[in-house]
Amino acid sequence: GETITIKDLAEKMHVKAADLIKRLMMLGMLVTINQEIDAETAAILAQEFGYEVEVKPEFDIESLLAEEPETDPAALKPRPPIVTVMGHVDHGKTSLLDAIRKTNVTATEAGGITQHIGAYQVEKNNRKITFIDTPGHEAFTAMRARGAKVTDVAVLVVAADDGVMPQTVEAINHARAANVPIVVALNKIDKPNANPDRVKKELADQGLVPEDWGGDTIVVPVSALKKQGIEDLLEMILLVADILELKANPDRPARGTIIESRLDKGRGPVATVLVQNGTLNVGDTLVAGQQFARVRAMIDDRGRRVSEAGPSTPVEVLGFSEVPEAGEAFVVVEERLARQIAQKRLAKKREEEARARAKIALEDVYRRI
Ligand code: GDP
Ligand code: MG
Repeated sequence: GETITIKDLAEKMHVKAADLIKRLMMLGMLVTINQEIDAETAAILAQEFGYEVEVKPEFDIESLLAEEPETDPAALKPRPPIVTVMGHVDHGKTSLLDAIRKTNVTATEAGGITQHIGAYQVEKNNRKITFIDTPGHEAFTAMRARGAKVTDVAVLVVAADDGVMPQTVEAINHARAANVPIVVALNKIDKPNANPDRVKKELADQGLVPEDWGGDTIVVPVSALKKQGIEDLLEMILLVADILELKANPDRPARGTIIESRLDKGRGPVATVLVQNGTLNVGDTLVAGQQFARVRAMIDDRGRRVSEAGPSTPVEVLGFSEVPEAGEAFVVVEERLARQIAQKRLAKKREEEARARAKIALEDVYRRI
């Protein structure tokens, strides 16, 4: 329900907070100035001072962030797939992400500089693919733990000389739990001891039966080192994306997920966000967890300043009040609302922390007794 602090209520009523506290004490309630009281108590208190209280419904923060209502099907446009690379340590995730990025950059804009912002986009057949570039799959699991779904297709990297390993199985389980289709990149095929057939057998044992074995798992032989098979891999990702019929409405306020964040010495809090629906514009106000931002500037994965970012686009955002947490969902709202939401959440967090401290203090007292 709705609540208000003694301080805010006193301000609204143009009376001293101390007088409200005194009156509540007479009514048998011990409160402090920053304590929240419920609407009912506030109404009784206000009446005592000759006011009438009208309770306006609180914005339902959680529902703002929850699954959005059905978007008009006619407004939905195809969007690029968002891809996460997973797999066992040393099987070549980082090398593959580098190879994909470099192959593509040299193909489209010779000598172009890419900057690391935690995600990037490449083009294949005039279509875009977004790769989440955060190290390892910890980020992916962290985001999943927060309920964020930021992956449409998982590329499972398996080294052809090593085969299915514990973290390979883990990655398969994560992708399955998230209901994300898997494309296998059979990496290091350049190695003399590469044994693709053995790996395919191991994949089949995990329920990933390769297409050439009569199953429906796409397995693409690649060498991240020699930059072989990269184009095939991109092609296959697009094929899977087509089946998914990924769509979004670019003509609405943006929502998405914080991919990475940090405090930059010169620029202040910086976050890479992935727009998942709508379009993010410079000047927009967004709320992400306890933080909010008025988007001051946006920088794309090529280091260029951009004024807007549509569905599936990763951009660096400047203008956050404080560093938001990776994995948090964000949503663009009216500025006043953004501040209020952020304040409310912060107050709630502080209250929880205070309660935790009070509990510890109390336990301490008990212990001493
Ligand atoms: P990650 O831990 O999965 O990110 O793996 P890395 O990308 O760091 O690669 C681990 C090691 O395997 C590095 O020494 C890479 O140079 C090597 N490597 C990666 N891909 C290939 C490949 O296609 N062929 C060969 N021969 N080595 C590779
Ligand atoms: Mg790595």
